[in-house]
Amino acid sequence: MGVETNSLISADGSPLLPGKMQDDILRGVTGELQDQGFVVANLDKLVNWARTGSLWPMTFGLACCAIEMIHAYMPRYDLDRFGVVPRPSPRQSDVIIVAGTLTNKMAPAFRKVYDQMSEPRYVISMGSCANSGGYYHHSYSVVRGCDRIVPVDVYVPGCPPTAEALVYGILQLQKKINRTGTLWR
Ligand code: SF4
Repeated sequence: MGVETNSLISADGSPLLPGKMQDDILRGVTGELQDQGFVVANLDKLVNWARTGSLWPMTFGLACCAIEMIHAYMPRYDLDRFGVVPRPSPRQSDVIIVAGTLTNKMAPAFRKVYDQMSEPRYVISMGSCANSGGYYHHSYSVVRGCDRIVPVDVYVPGCPPTAEALVYGILQLQKKINRTGTLWR
């Protein structure tokens, strides 16, 4: 038996949380190695497992939402336990968390940072401003949603969203990658 497709589903039929899913996969691989000395696995699933366990976000705080994003990285919420480690360079990042108000002036720089990230890359839009312009929707200087500049994978609502909400958004992205990810993306 290899790393099974149904390892994504718990015994009662509900989807497994990414952390528990990874534990289950590791347990299965270890058992099979001890038993037979080799492992048979689905390559797509293995790649998705590696991707979801090492999502490295580009640090991209634009306004007040960034405070909650930083909060999520601190020991109380400890995103490191999900393999989520902030990086200071787009070359090392595979997800960008747009945390705050995106202005027209900042938009070209934002797009440039996104373009410098290697594929597969993902975008989390954090807070009302990034989602739709929010409080500044009618301002002359604000982009009415960062999805006008880059494709967004997960929207986290709130003004600002709590750190818990961002952690939940990241877990949703992990689930999305597990559900839809292929070798190429
Ligand atoms: S959504 Fe609210 S908290 Fe976040 S950047 Fe906009 S105004 Fe600030």
